[in-house]
Amino acid sequence: MKRVILLGSSGSIGESTCKVARALPDKMKIVGLGVAKSTDRVLEQAREFGVEAVAVSDPRAAEKVKKDIPKGIKFYPGEEGLTRMVEETEAEMVLVAIVGTAGLAPSLAALRTGKDLAVASKEILVLAGSAVMREAKKNQRKILPVDSEHNAIFQCLQSAKNQEVRKIILTASGGPFRQSSAEEMKKVTIAQALKHPTWSMGKKITIDSATMFNKGLEMIEAHWLFGLPMSQVEVVVHPQSIVHSLVEFVDGSVLAQLSVTDMCFPIQYAVTYPERRPSGLPPLDLPKLGTLTFEAPDEKRFPALRLAREAGEAGGTLPGVFNAANEVAVEAFLEGRISFPRIWEMVEIVMSSHSTQKEPDLAAIVAADQWARIQARAIVGGKP
Ligand code: MG
Repeated sequence: MKRVILLGSSGSIGESTCKVARALPDKMKIVGLGVAKSTDRVLEQAREFGVEAVAVSDPRAAEKVKKDIPKGIKFYPGEEGLTRMVEETEAEMVLVAIVGTAGLAPSLAALRTGKDLAVASKEILVLAGSAVMREAKKNQRKILPVDSEHNAIFQCLQSAKNQEVRKIILTASGGPFRQSSAEEMKKVTIAQALKHPTWSMGKKITIDSATMFNKGLEMIEAHWLFGLPMSQVEVVVHPQSIVHSLVEFVDGSVLAQLSVTDMCFPIQYAVTYPERRPSGLPPLDLPKLGTLTFEAPDEKRFPALRLAREAGEAGGTLPGVFNAANEVAVEAFLEGRISFPRIWEMVEIVMSSHSTQKEPDLAAIVAADQWARIQARAIVGGKP
């Protein structure tokens, strides 16, 4: 039985993780739940799974819900609550699915206190890849990718040594504007950008898929996770989202992982690894699928990939700046304040005015993140 702490339980990955826990009652037990503000949902989940601890990071939401926490459940309120719950609750694994920088400190705390880390939040490796990998090594803990692409690569690499890998190839759906011209993208509406062709996800990640910033973030994540330089991380557009990623080996052989699009697949593998368990998930019907197609990404129309490569190669604080500027730009786009292509422009402007700090500590990472947000907001506001 694996005892799992789930951070970000009310989001789309969090709910899928709960589904996996329901399907694997003899293999997985959720013992702790963390949310920012979704107190009603976390109380329901706490009762359903009989957890030992609950953390609510938003101080006002925590204050309000305090009196409703059932007896016998340890409550961790406020910003430090997530980290304290991770430190003090006995568990084998912490699955982090909270957006933003809030997942950083609890992730490092998980590794420090001898727990494996299942990573769903991109920010953890994009912002602090070096620190997180170092902490995992020091404590001999595993980092298990939950993102479908990285989970696919992780599966393909099971029998391989690192020096046998020529490159890893992340698949990208290409989003709703895969075939749109640069001119057409200037007129993209919020509703059009929120319509993802294959995956149903939160708003931020759906826009990131449309701009391909999501794939850019995943390139940087893969670079850290698998210890490969950015030059060995490639992207191929695969509109059907059935092949979740591939690994090319030095002998020219390529392995791929395929499944229908359901996040329960990578979550279950991360939890049961190194074992595989039967699941009630739908199998792949290849004859019904018929055709799978692949095409090269167009970095001119989708500059996010080029910017990601730059950020990943520079390392230090630049990937965090890339991420933070994009977050502000996406918010501004969703508020109708900037055009769709302006998202790329804003990130490029903020990145080019940043002086990268190498080997940053957590404080420097957070400082660079805040600096980038201020710069990006100023651009939205029309100042610099
Ligand atoms: Mg993904």
